[in-house]
Amino acid sequence: LVSRENHPERSVVRVGGVPIGPGTMTLIAGPCAVETPEQTLQAAQMARAAGATLLRGGAFKPRTSPYAFQGLGEAGLKILADVRAETGMPVVTEVVDAHDVELVAEYADMLQIGTRNAQNFALLQAVGEAGMPVLLKRGMSGTIEEWLMAAEYIAQRGNLDIVLCERGIRTFEKATRNTLDISAVPVAQRLGHLPVIVDPSHSGGRRDLVLPLTRAAIAVGADGVILDVHPHPETALCDGPQALVDGDLRELARIVRELPPLV
Ligand code: PEP
Repeated sequence: LVSRENHPERSVVRVGGVPIGPGTMTLIAGPCAVETPEQTLQAAQMARAAGATLLRGGAFKPRTSPYAFQGLGEAGLKILADVRAETGMPVVTEVVDAHDVELVAEYADMLQIGTRNAQNFALLQAVGEAGMPVLLKRGMSGTIEEWLMAAEYIAQRGNLDIVLCERGIRTFEKATRNTLDISAVPVAQRLGHLPVIVDPSHSGGRRDLVLPLTRAAIAVGADGVILDVHPHPETALCDGPQALVDGDLRELARIVRELPPLV
């Protein structure tokens, strides 16, 4: 269902009216985790000023340590919905458990499947039945074929509104949090018809790498990028070191303006 063999034209997926697909460079940005109404609104306003048209933000956070901030849950979803009402930005947010799909879908415009759940088949099937666009991150140790097959699990349940996201893979390299597999973008676009975006924040894990990796994503023909933004990253409860701040966002807007997307 997701292969280009039977569907030669590349698809466009619309999220609350915002297109992601060939010829777009859709910016999705916002806080890694929803912490407070003020922090989420400020991050959204910063993102929107830089040209972002979709708001990201985690209310359910899959963390390595069970002692780390796990997200606000439904209270975080409510904050996202309030910020959408205030800014007009449709919301992309992660769901980590098949039992929560209905709840998250009440508040979200796009359901995100994170890297750790990329082969959680029950969850993939549940979002396939939710009738809402899905952002499917690549498993950190997943091959491109496994990633496309994960998308197939969603598609098989009747949902073809799927956007793939390359977010870096696990390699021997320790200088970066993950290794951005930039070649995965054109490979996945040639094998499948789904839009492919890049997450330069979670790949590098470092603020100073986010803009260079964004340039790489645009140059290689990604259909969009998803970025972490925080008004005060030094106090962030999750992934502060990779969050963009105001000055970076002005530079981001310039890069996106000046580098036209590959079609
Ligand atoms: C995220 O985008 O909030 C996230 C946790 O990303 P990943 O699943 O790619 O680590």
